[in-house]
Amino acid sequence: MTTISNFKGISAKEKVKFQEQYDLWMCNRTQDEIELYDLIIEYDEKLFKDFTFQRESLITPFLKGKTKVNGKWVTFYENPHEAIESITDSLYRFLVADLEDAEGLVKHPTRTMTIPLHNLGRKDVILHEMIHIYEDVLHPMYKEILQHCLYVRLSKKIPDLDTHILERCNLAILHENAIDGGYHGPLFHLKSLDLDCRCRFNLGTVFGGKRIEEQG
Ligand SMILES: [Zn+2]
Repeated sequence: MTTISNFKGISAKEKVKFQEQYDLWMCNRTQDEIELYDLIIEYDEKLFKDFTFQRESLITPFLKGKTKVNGKWVTFYENPHEAIESITDSLYRFLVADLEDAEGLVKHPTRTMTIPLHNLGRKDVILHEMIHIYEDVLHPMYKEILQHCLYVRLSKKIPDLDTHILERCNLAILHENAIDGGYHGPLFHLKSLDLDCRCRFNLGTVFGGKRIEEQG
């Protein structure tokens, strides 16, 4: 079951408004936006199973529970009610348009991701912006679990993981980046490194270059 009850700072009235905007956009997407949407669905299904709390992801141990039935212990899987099943449930619209001084842009107040046409082939840029959307819509409890699971997985793959995190996520850098272009904390950094590994990018690619994001 999908619920969006935990969307940060959004009233029921705003949800209706965003749903209407999303439905209207879906009916009027340009060919480029259809292409972008298809790419996002593809990346979402392949690379964000953890962020949608699917059973076959690194999050599985946190879904597993045991209960006694007729005196015997039986395994069951908790339904993650407060997660979303797909990034498309976020009611974000995925736009293709020119941007000044940015490779990609997520605006939380308007629930839009914008990618310039010349960056449609930049998987790293699109993945970067997708992390921002998930960080916006996921319940804090889920984000803590994800951060733990990603850290455990990546610490086996990246020997100097702590240095990577410290270099990107100490408070001086976080404050500076927040002024320039949005919040990129430990969870963001861990997921970007996870995507680097799985896409065979150099470490730091998804974290990337110059982007701006408005925080909602
Ligand atoms: Zn960013």
